[in-house]
Amino acid sequence: MIRPVMEEPATGFQSMGLSRGMLKALAAARYHEPSPIQAEFIPAALDGLDVLGQAKTGTGKTAAFGIPLIEMLEARGRGPQAIILAPTRELTQQIVVELKKLCANRGDVAVCGLYGGEPIERQIRALSRGIDIAVGTPGRVLDHIERHTLYLGDIFHLVLDEADRMLDIGFRPDIERIMKRLPEPHQTLLLSATISPEIRALSHRYMQDPVELNLSTDEPSVESIRQYYVSVNHDRKVSLLVHLLKRDQPRQCIVFTRTKRGADRLAERLRRTIPGVAAIHGDLAQTARDRVMSGFRKGTIPILVATDVVGRGIDVANISHVVNYDIPDDPENYVHRIGRTGRMGKDGVAYLFVGPDQGDPLTQIETLINKVIPAHKVEGFEVSRPSAAAPGSRELFNTVVTRSFR
Ligand code: AMP
Repeated sequence: MIRPVMEEPATGFQSMGLSRGMLKALAAARYHEPSPIQAEFIPAALDGLDVLGQAKTGTGKTAAFGIPLIEMLEARGRGPQAIILAPTRELTQQIVVELKKLCANRGDVAVCGLYGGEPIERQIRALSRGIDIAVGTPGRVLDHIERHTLYLGDIFHLVLDEADRMLDIGFRPDIERIMKRLPEPHQTLLLSATISPEIRALSHRYMQDPVELNLSTDEPSVESIRQYYVSVNHDRKVSLLVHLLKRDQPRQCIVFTRTKRGADRLAERLRRTIPGVAAIHGDLAQTARDRVMSGFRKGTIPILVATDVVGRGIDVANISHVVNYDIPDDPENYVHRIGRTGRMGKDGVAYLFVGPDQGDPLTQIETLINKVIPAHKVEGFEVSRPSAAAPGSRELFNTVVTRSFR
């Protein structure tokens, strides 16, 4: 008997010519449709082209480069075939987790994270057993190259993730030293939230006719974040935060402070009234950071108090709230901070605490994001207002801030 062929229409991932194992892994991860960056990035990367992609975290960028890398792997040689450089340990670990998820049906693929803050011996042992994909911070990767524990002769793909941040942190010399040692030809995939002249210079120098994809303009994640500022006197910030956390009951929340000491102190004070609070910052030992991050990922620690450097790379899909407890020093950091919520189109709320003397930094942030952040008034936390304010100006307690923003 001839059975009728029930062909399912090829949608998203199916139409990309991916292996069965990969399609099964994507289904298991509940990635039903490619995100906009994945829809464009994956076919270009699978074609073997160099790709320069402008994309922020939260858009599915890790799988955008991870899927083609895994699909293009060949039989293992002496060293890894792909190397991914990322700015921080946390991001490196997140990439490893994501790649392992995508390799779920490929028992033969070994992925190894190479970052500082943990004994190098464990990494050396993993490298000597043989790996396919190395994911690391530039400093530690160089360290391995210099110790001859990482063989680069088989590399065919290089990924620079969050390239703008790597340059900000000062990794440029390390990155170039690594790039100069890679065998030719190899494919380079560069992802960056912004394409600055420096990034462009790097791509001119090290990439072959890259396909340029700008996928951050209509990024849905930032649009799905409701942003508010809350005026508050400095001495009432802790009580305001406790009030908001109790009222909003966030699924998960990151609270940003300006300093490491500030993060510790705030976490300490919150813990007195709210369960599941931890602090994370650069002074914490790696094992403690791992423990906190794993608790946050699992949801056993729903509230994380973080500094910018560590906090802004965190990718946990369930974050519903971001609180800018201290106004960021650099307005750019505001964008990175609030981008921790509203991941993959989920909704998110971002509060910005603004003290009586902080009208200027608020206006700078609004100018940068080209949007007026509405005030959110919280009963019981009002601050005294000036009796009269000029039209078109912003009243902030005893200061009147004229908008430089249009
Ligand atoms: P990223 O931009 O790589 O940091 O990814 C943001 C989040 O989206 C991560 O939690 C991913 O696991 C998730 N993700 C990536 N691709 C998809 C997809 N196609 N569908 C649903 N979730 C996804």
